[in-house]
Amino acid sequence: MEKSTRCRIANTDLAILAGDITQQDTDAIVNAANSRLRGGGGVDGAIHRAAGPIIDRQCRVYIREHGSLPPGRAMWTDSGNLKAKYVIHTVGPIYRNDEESEPILRSAYQESLRLADDLGARSISFPAISAGVYGYPLDKAARVALTAITDYLREGDTSLVLVQMVCFTDSSYAAFHRALKGCEAVMGDE
Ligand code: ADP
Repeated sequence: MEKSTRCRIANTDLAILAGDITQQDTDAIVNAANSRLRGGGGVDGAIHRAAGPIIDRQCRVYIREHGSLPPGRAMWTDSGNLKAKYVIHTVGPIYRNDEESEPILRSAYQESLRLADDLGARSISFPAISAGVYGYPLDKAARVALTAITDYLREGDTSLVLVQMVCFTDSSYAAFHRALKGCEAVMGDE
């Protein structure tokens, strides 16, 4: 399936595409990790498997030195066998309600973008954080994700030229596509 759509936010291209994040060659890819950085199912398991054992080794060292990674925060590891140079691990919220969960999801995206900039990355790929087993309703997760990303990019001061949302399922591609149209409508009103 070859599907993608894109728009421009300040100096950065924002793309929504259907695909597998482990295959992306952006400088960084983001992992929807858990706080213990142990590699589970879903996108987390796929990234650990595709990268090889280096991620698990570096995550164990991080946990030993810093303790668990709280929801909304991000750290990075090398990328082993992946095409990307860096894997940025962030923890999304387990969905409870919008009031509690939205600021954490927003922070997971923005902390990841900030870390990518700190690393000097020019491009980054995200999965739909929290939209799998963490239960965030897909349309809401897509709206929060795109608002967090566009707000970050509009603040300026980023070296990122490409931000990709990599959607693994037809339903997540459709949700992100709808959310992007919503963002564009809002931008057009300004
Ligand atoms: P969370 O625990 O944050 O909900 P999941 O891994 O369960 O994380 O799901 C997050 C999203 O990642 C889901 O939309 C799921 O379809 C998607 N996903 C699973 N595997 C991949 C992959 N290889 N590439 C991109 N997205 C993936």
